[in-house]
Amino acid sequence: MAAYSTDPIIAIATAPGRGGIGVVRISGQDLSALVGQLFGVALTPRHAHYLPFNDTHGQAIDAGIALFFKGPHSYTGEDVLELQGHGGPAVLRRLLEHCLRSGKELGLRHAEPGEFTQRAFLNERIDLAQAEAVADLIDASSEAAARSAMASLAGVFSTHVNALSDRIVHLRMLVEATLDFPEEEIDFLEKYQAREALAQIQNDLHALTRQAQQGMILREGLHVVLAGQPNVGKSSLLNALAGDDIAIVTPIAGTTRDKVTQQIHIQGVPIHIVDTAGLRDTDDAVESIGIARTWAEIEKANVIIHLQDARTHDDELDSAITKRLPARTPVLKVFNKIDLLDAADPAVRHTGSRATHAPVDGRDGLEPIAISAKTGAGLDALRQTLLDLAGWNPGAQSPWLARARHLHALQQADEHLAQAAEHASHNDRVLDLFAEELRLAHDSLSSITGQFTSDDLLGEIFSSFCIGK
Ligand code: GDP
Ligand code: ZN
Repeated sequence: MAAYSTDPIIAIATAPGRGGIGVVRISGQDLSALVGQLFGVALTPRHAHYLPFNDTHGQAIDAGIALFFKGPHSYTGEDVLELQGHGGPAVLRRLLEHCLRSGKELGLRHAEPGEFTQRAFLNERIDLAQAEAVADLIDASSEAAARSAMASLAGVFSTHVNALSDRIVHLRMLVEATLDFPEEEIDFLEKYQAREALAQIQNDLHALTRQAQQGMILREGLHVVLAGQPNVGKSSLLNALAGDDIAIVTPIAGTTRDKVTQQIHIQGVPIHIVDTAGLRDTDDAVESIGIARTWAEIEKANVIIHLQDARTHDDELDSAITKRLPARTPVLKVFNKIDLLDAADPAVRHTGSRATHAPVDGRDGLEPIAISAKTGAGLDALRQTLLDLAGWNPGAQSPWLARARHLHALQQADEHLAQAAEHASHNDRVLDLFAEELRLAHDSLSSITGQFTSDDLLGEIFSSFCIGK
C-alpha cells in the first residue's frame, strides 16, 4: 500500500451555510502541541471544555466547546480536536484560518474530501464497507435508506461477508492440508463432506447477494424518464406521485443541481424522474447545455414512461415521440386523464388500474397503465409497476445499503465457488484447482471490506465524500 500522508488535517465538518452551531475538526497523530498553542492549556480527553477561541492577538473569534479525543480512541484513530462554535460561515472560516496559522509549523493543512474517514479506515477503526456507509448515511435520501446505511455502518453487512469468508478459508485449509498427503486426496471430499460444505456456502452467498441487490436498489433507486406531448399531464403526474414526499437533494460540491431530475420515493425507494419538457431544438447556448444534460440523463434511464392522453393515445405525435426515444430502454405507456373519458367509451374506463384493451407493447411487453393524475385513479398500480421494474421486493428485508461494487464482488466470489464445485464434481478431482478457486472467492469477498483494495479504488471511494468527513 502506498504511503499515506499523516499530516495533521483540518476542515469545517458542518454543512456550509448558517446553523446554530458549526464544527471545525482537526485530526493528527499528536495534537498536544497544537492544543497548547490554541488554548494555552492541555485538554482532558473526552471532556467538554467551554473556552474562548481567541486569535493570536488575544481577540475573540468566538467562544464554544472544545472536545479532545486522544488517539486511538477517536473517529480517525488519531488525536482529534473538535471545536464547536457558532454556525456562521464567516466565524467558522476565521476559526479555521486561525487554526491553520497556529498549526503551520506542525504541518497542519486543509483536509481532502473523505480524508478523516479514510484515516479511520487506514487505522482500522472501520472497514471499507463501513466507510462507504458513512457517506451513504450522509447521502441517504429516505428514512429507509438511512436506516440501512446505519446497519452497514454498524457492520451488519461486513459481519455477514466475514462469516462467509471464514467458512471459505476453513474449507480451503482442509484442502491444503490434504494436498500435503496426496494419497488421501481421493478421500478428502468424502471425509470432510467438502461438496456439501461448498454447496452450503454457495447457498448462503446467493441469499446474501439477493439482500445486497435490494440494498443497492434502496441506494441507487430507479431512473425514469417522463416523456410525452405538452399538456398530457407530466407535471401533474410528478406532483401526484410526489405527494408529501419532498425529495432531499444532496448538493454535490462544485455542481449545481438543476431541475432536470426530480427525486421522489416509493416505499423508501428513490425514483429519479427526468422531465423531458425542456427537450426542443434551440439555438440558445445555455438552453443547449440543459438539453444535452437531459439527453445524458435519458441515457442513464432504466425505464421510460411515455405519458399520453387516454382520449387520443398512440396518435401520430405519440408515434413521433416513440421514435426519438432510445431503443434499448423499456417503455411503459401510461394513459392519463381517464377521468375525462367518455362514459360510453369502454376502452380504458373500468380498469381502475391497467388498460386491458390495449395491446401489450411489442417492444418490451410492458402493459400500458391507465391513470388520472387528477383523481389519483391507477396511481397505486403505476407505483407498484415502478417498484417491480426496479426489482424491489418489499417482502425481502433490506438490512443494509449496498453498492454496485459490493454486488460485483459477491458475483465474482460466486463464479469462483461455481468453478470450485465444478472441479470437485469431476472424477479427476483436481484439488489444487479447487483450493485456488476458494482462494479467489475469498479475495473477492475481502475486497468488500477492503483487505485487498487498490489505492486507485480507495482514492475513488474517498474522493466522493464531502469535505470534513
Ligand atoms: P404537462 O405539460 O405534460 O406537464 O401537463 P400538465 O401537468 O401541465 O397538465 C396539463 C393540463 O392537464 C393541466 O390543466 C392539468 O390540470 C390537466 N390534467 C393533468 N392531468 C389530468 C387528469 O388526470 N385529468 C384531468 N381532467 N386533467 C388533467
Ligand atoms: Zn409540465
